[in-house]
Amino acid sequence: MEGARTRHSGSTYRTVSTGFTRDVNRSAILRLIGSSAPIARHEIARQLGLSSATVTQITRGLIEQGLIRVAERAPSRGGRPALLLELVGGAATAFGAKVAIDHLVGVRVDLEAEVLERFECKFDAAADGAVDRLGDVLADWLGASDGYAPLLGVGLGVPGVFDRSTQALDSPLLGWHGVHVAGQLQQRLGVPVFVDNDVNTLAVWERLYGRGTAVEDFIVVTIGRGVGLGIVVGGDIYRGFRGGAGEFGHITVVDDGPPCSCGKRGCLEAVIGDPALIAEARAAGVLPRRHGIARLDGLAKSGNEGALAVYAHAGRALGRAVSTLVNVLAPELVLLSGEGTRAWEALAPAFERELRAHLFPTFADVVVEVEPWDDGKWAIGAASLVLRATFTAPLDGEQHDRVRARIEAGATAAEVVA
Ligand SMILES: [Zn+2]
Repeated sequence: MEGARTRHSGSTYRTVSTGFTRDVNRSAILRLIGSSAPIARHEIARQLGLSSATVTQITRGLIEQGLIRVAERAPSRGGRPALLLELVGGAATAFGAKVAIDHLVGVRVDLEAEVLERFECKFDAAADGAVDRLGDVLADWLGASDGYAPLLGVGLGVPGVFDRSTQALDSPLLGWHGVHVAGQLQQRLGVPVFVDNDVNTLAVWERLYGRGTAVEDFIVVTIGRGVGLGIVVGGDIYRGFRGGAGEFGHITVVDDGPPCSCGKRGCLEAVIGDPALIAEARAAGVLPRRHGIARLDGLAKSGNEGALAVYAHAGRALGRAVSTLVNVLAPELVLLSGEGTRAWEALAPAFERELRAHLFPTFADVVVEVEPWDDGKWAIGAASLVLRATFTAPLDGEQHDRVRARIEAGATAAEVVA
């Protein structure tokens, strides 16, 4: 019998009962294999502080369930070669979707977040009954599950603040206030549904699969219709009180400036968001009425001075705002993403100048990278909300328990959406 004090998820300890101990150990082992495969049993035992008998017993069970397998045999000095274990990517699937104001992007992924299918459709988030409609679309997409491994759950990335304690979502951008979107969709779809801020799902993607895999402290800033921020501290998302961290778009940058969707004036988003750029360009006679952001990008790319001036203004405001973030958070890396980066060439000179001019000297060489724009990463990040549950200890709540129960039951996607 393993001791009652069990190590899990890094450095926290908690006193637990016997059956629970086994479950925690099992999750910790799955998680470690997921992050460090191929890995030998004795290494798992060493890293988790478990006995080799416990590790052997649990990994044998996981192999029988088809969740892990022997990847290879490592040479050893004398004795039997060590078995190296890895996840079986195809053992289960998860679904992720990014909810934008006018469209949805969804992906079906396997346990290793390899994309098996991608979906996209128009969606009017501001319409009456939008959450019901979202449920219909997801049910359709999930329904086409023939031939896929069991579905563990659905993750959603939504532009807004999701309070995990009340499970309520507030999204001024979508016009959703206090919506219990996870609960509603869970009833409709019959699978666990996880919700997070959309920029957080992108940051999760970067942390698990992208530029952040080897970086413990980084930030993701997104520009486009809105301005978003994902903060990764010590390797995990920083969510703040009630999940509200990251409302970077609503810091005040102009006293009594243009009105913002949040009800205040002069927010960063109200100055550099797409609608603000369009308004500024029209007011300056640069952009004809009826034309939008694509036209403004085109004008800047062709060297139109008026359009370049609009972007230079935005680049300055963004550069100064990001310098404040860096001075406060000291990230190793700043990732810039979002559809607004399509005009990066026009934004970059003023952004760089203003950023470097306001950085605390210690941070003068902070690395800023601009990521190619891709909705799919946000959706994979949303699916990762489900996949993470496979690898975290059951202390993370009922939802995660349900995901693990689905692995054990081997429930099929066809059953769950019926
Ligand atoms: Zn605002």
